[in-house]
Amino acid sequence: MKENNGTVTRFAPSPTGYIHIGNVRSAIYPFLIAKKAGGRFILRIEDTDQARYVEGATDLIMETLKWLGLEWDEGPEVGGENGPYYQSERKEIYRKWAEKMILSGRAYVDETKTEEIERMRKEDNEEKLAFLFRNHRPDSYNWDTEKTLEVFRNEKVALRFKAEPKRREWTDEVMGKMHAGPEVQDDIILIKKDGMPTYNFAHIVDDAEMGVTHIARGVEYLASMPNYLAMYEALELTPPKFLSLPHILAPSGNKKLGKRDGAKSVNEYRKDGILPEAMLNYLACLGWNDGTEQEIYSMEELIEKFTIPRIQSSPARFDERKILWYNGQWIRKIFQERGVKALYEETRGFWSKEALAFSEEYRLRVLSIIYDRLKTFGEIAEFTDYFFREPEVDVVMMRENKFLKKFSKEEILGLLEKTELRLAEISEWTAENIQTGLNELLAETEKKPAELFSLIRIAISFAPFSPALNETMEVLGKERSLGRISRAKAAIEGAE
Ligand code: GLU
Repeated sequence: MKENNGTVTRFAPSPTGYIHIGNVRSAIYPFLIAKKAGGRFILRIEDTDQARYVEGATDLIMETLKWLGLEWDEGPEVGGENGPYYQSERKEIYRKWAEKMILSGRAYVDETKTEEIERMRKEDNEEKLAFLFRNHRPDSYNWDTEKTLEVFRNEKVALRFKAEPKRREWTDEVMGKMHAGPEVQDDIILIKKDGMPTYNFAHIVDDAEMGVTHIARGVEYLASMPNYLAMYEALELTPPKFLSLPHILAPSGNKKLGKRDGAKSVNEYRKDGILPEAMLNYLACLGWNDGTEQEIYSMEELIEKFTIPRIQSSPARFDERKILWYNGQWIRKIFQERGVKALYEETRGFWSKEALAFSEEYRLRVLSIIYDRLKTFGEIAEFTDYFFREPEVDVVMMRENKFLKKFSKEEILGLLEKTELRLAEISEWTAENIQTGLNELLAETEKKPAELFSLIRIAISFAPFSPALNETMEVLGKERSLGRISRAKAAIEGAE
C-alpha cells in the first residue's frame, strides 16, 4: 500500500431503494481514487429524508459494495474516527454548524408556510420571473444573532442560508472550468422544521468533518454548485475537489437510464449469475478508459491504472450485452488463471436439483467442458441438463436437423448402428480414444463431420448445442453414451 497522501473519498448513498447501476459507479470511482492514492474510502449513509427511507436499503447497499470488493475503510460496521456514519445520528453536529452560520450572520429562521411559498412561486411564474426565495425574505431575516439563536434553539423552525449572490467560478475535475451567475444562488434551507438538515447542508458539514478531499457524484448536483460554494465560503472552508460524473444513458434515445430501461439493480444481476469482477469491470469502463485498447481489468489493475483526467465528461450508454460479454470473458479468465475449482465456487447456487444429486467431482467435470459457452451462471441449469438427466428422445429434432434432413430413416439407423458398434470397442474411455473412434467412423461411413457428428451429438444430448462430442461422451461415460445411442435408434425405428 502506498503512503497515504491524504486522499479521502466517500460514497454517500441515500437508502431510498435498490442500488442501481448509476449509483454503483459513483462508488467505484471514489473507491479507485482513494485506493490508488493509498488514501481512505468512506461509506456514509445519507438517511435524513425520512419520507423516502426504505427499510433494508442500507443493508442491500453494503452487501452490494462488499460483493463488488468495494470495502470501505470507515463507515457502518467498521467504524472509524469520524463517526457516526449515518446522517440521522449526526443531528447535533449539523446544529452546531448551523449555529456557526447564525453567529457569522449567514443564516436566518424561516417560518414561511409551504402554501405561502407555493403562492409566491405561482405569482413569480405568472410574471415570468424565476422564483427565488431571497426575493421574498421574511422579517426574521433582519433579526439579530441572539434572537435568531434563541428561536432556533427553542422552537421547531427551519433555518435558511443568507445568500450573497455573485458570479462564481470553479473547476470540476471532470467537466472542466465552470462558472455561474448570481441568478442561480438562493437562500437555501439548511435545517428543516423537523430538525433534520437538508442534503445541501449536511453533505458540506460531513465532508468537512470527515476530511474528504474529492467529491465524486452524479452530474445532477452540478447545478447546485454555486450554492455549495457560497456555503463553503460562509463557513470559511476550503472546498474539496469536485468530480461530476456524467449520466448513464438508456440503451436508446437520449434520456438518462431509468428503471424502465432494462437496467436491473446490481443485486439482480448478481442473482442472474453475473460475476462481481465482470460487473466491476463493466461499470468502471462505462465512462473511463486508460487510453489504450485494454478492456479487461481486474481490481488491482483498475487501482493501478485509474486516473481522474481519463474519466469521460460525456455520458456513456448502458448496454446489457456488454455486461454479458464481460461476464463471458471473466468466466474464461477465472477458469484459465485460477482453475475449474475456483470457477466452480462462483457457480454455487446455480446448479439444478438434478445436478446436485451427482458428485461434486462430476459437476466439476461438466463445468470444465461447458464453461466457455456460458455468458451467465444462470444458464448452467439449461446448458447442462442432459448431463444429469436422460434427455427425452426427440425424433423430429433429429430428422429435421439441417445436416440430417437428406438422409433416409434407414441411413440414419445404419449410421447409429455403426457408431454404437465402433464406440463399444473402445476399452479405455478417454476423450482421445473416443476421438480416434469418431475419426475412424468418418472414414468408414464416408460422411462429412458435420453430418455424422450432428447425428451423434443429437442422439447423446438432444440439446441445441453441446461441447466437443468426444469430451461430452467422456464425461457422460461409456455406458450412458452407448445407452443413449441405442435409445435414439429404437425411437427412430419405431417412428413413422
Ligand atoms: N445522498 C446523495 C445521493 O444518494 C449523495 C450525493 C453525494 O454523493 O454527495 O445521491
